[in-house]
Amino acid sequence: MLFTEIGSALVVVAHCDDAEWMFGGVVAKLTDRGVPVSYLVVTDGASGGVDLSVTDEQLAAVRADEQRAAAGVLGVSDVTFLGYHNDELEVSVGLKRDIVHQIRRVRPDLVLTWMPSRHPEAPIDWLHGDHLAVGEATMQAIYPEALMPRIHSELGKEGLAPHTVGEVWYPAMSDADCYIDVSEVVEVKMDAIWCHHSQNGEANGDRTWLFERRVAPPMRSAGRMLAVAYAERFRRVAITG
Ligand SMILES: [Zn+2]
Repeated sequence: MLFTEIGSALVVVAHCDDAEWMFGGVVAKLTDRGVPVSYLVVTDGASGGVDLSVTDEQLAAVRADEQRAAAGVLGVSDVTFLGYHNDELEVSVGLKRDIVHQIRRVRPDLVLTWMPSRHPEAPIDWLHGDHLAVGEATMQAIYPEALMPRIHSELGKEGLAPHTVGEVWYPAMSDADCYIDVSEVVEVKMDAIWCHHSQNGEANGDRTWLFERRVAPPMRSAGRMLAVAYAERFRRVAITG
């Protein structure tokens, strides 16, 4: 599937801010073309950050607001939160059913999600258990569950017909087989990441520091493969031909 052939996309992530960090450039390029993009955020983010003075409920509400704002910067208005408690996520029948529900509702050509298993080159923050659980649950939800009418048949009775996703892309290192030039949208990606104020404490208010130290290096590294300034890189899994 060529990038220009993508007619709709669903981003399935574990935490508020995952979508912006991992897929922000691709999402911005898709919405610039008028392609509808939906987000599915699986956890509530209530254990993110280091501030013990706020309750789980308060932090979850702040993070949901930050996520909606960041999505809006990238042209995404359809944001669904499943509300699973973070740092406890497992691949479960219930989680897979919830993801199938969204796949059958949104009916995407492309799903962007976390990688389903550990990779020896992956940065440590990619290997959060919630990320791995979301990646694996999403892969199982896409194949075979979303496309088989007898699996989660109660969803069919709700009018959510089976759907076959075209491709899945997940973040990759040297195993990447898909590079997307995001040079033209790198500032809007950074604008979206900056919306997650509760999680950007490391930068101490210094947006340039965050960009130069955390955001830009992996995109510059990927960009060298295309001889462009910034790129995002993925591994593609084809579900249909
Ligand atoms: Zn995360």
